[in-house]
Amino acid sequence: MPIRTSKTEIKERLIDDYGREIRSLRFSITNRCNLNCIYCHREGEGRRELVEEISAELVIEIARVASGYFNIRKIKFSGGEPLMRDDLVDIVQGMRDFEDDISATTNGVFLKKYAAELADAGMDRVNVSLDSLKEERYDFITSSSNNLPKVIEGIYSAIDAGLTPVKLNMVLLKGINDDEIVGMMDFVRECNKRGGGGVVILQLIELIPYFNPSVQNYEADFYGVEAELKSKASAIKTRRMQHRRKYFVDGVEVEVVHPIDNTEFCANCSRLRITSDGKIKPCLLRNDNLVPIESVDERHIINKLKLAMRYREPFYGR
Ligand code: SAM
Repeated sequence: MPIRTSKTEIKERLIDDYGREIRSLRFSITNRCNLNCIYCHREGEGRRELVEEISAELVIEIARVASGYFNIRKIKFSGGEPLMRDDLVDIVQGMRDFEDDISATTNGVFLKKYAAELADAGMDRVNVSLDSLKEERYDFITSSSNNLPKVIEGIYSAIDAGLTPVKLNMVLLKGINDDEIVGMMDFVRECNKRGGGGVVILQLIELIPYFNPSVQNYEADFYGVEAELKSKASAIKTRRMQHRRKYFVDGVEVEVVHPIDNTEFCANCSRLRITSDGKIKPCLLRNDNLVPIESVDERHIINKLKLAMRYREPFYGR
């Protein structure tokens, strides 16, 4: 695959009617997944059936145009399971020259195999979903078996390959894993010893229950958890992205992602999503305003990105 640098001259910024500037693209490059997490929102796509997946060429062209024309230089790959795309390494390599930050959110099962290759191709870091360190719970949550040891190996490989900081994504689930935060922090500490300190971050994610009503019973006391972190933290920082808070507790960095009923979450939304079949998705929680991208033509991509901006409005507070 040819490696192209972005020759497009930066022309304008992508800012919606609410003053929110787009700073990152989140590509769902497949909706296939080797796991089946009980709560999974599938990046809001809501589909399990196979679709014609967005081509590597289109992914790279969208990234190139967004970078060169709109100065968006931050890319996240998600899915489905992004490591199920056997051309992910090529995709990363194809855009490395015009991005500042390339990352993926993965379940980590195949990470041991790909970590070094992805790092060589130009990937900067990964998020690994890890809801439990107890095998029985992990199997229940992911509807799978024998995968937890592979994920742990994958995390070690990511650290060794320098795909850092590695963020461990833990969706809090009442009665299932909400008693494991301390255990998870111990695991982060252990990983940090391996990586020389500070390379692994725990990211606690509030469950979004809208996609699967049967998981509503698992909504944990997120405010209570956050209050406890606050009381123990030696320092607290707030990230610009969605006003996420970071708590520093006993040498572990814990970031909190709190999307539910959170107007701040929407007010500070600076990401645009692309679906696995190549449509711009202005909001995780809506599917009635998708904008298909039908060609790799630069002008077409620019126009579609601008059109999608007209459809962006905060979900909370509507
Ligand atoms: N397969 C990859 C993985 O497991 O990370 C990428 C796709 S997954 C949809 C991306 C992230 O979304 C994961 O970290 C997952 O925990 C999070 N997620 C999925 N469904 C969610 C929900 N209902 N509420 C909150 N987070 C969710």
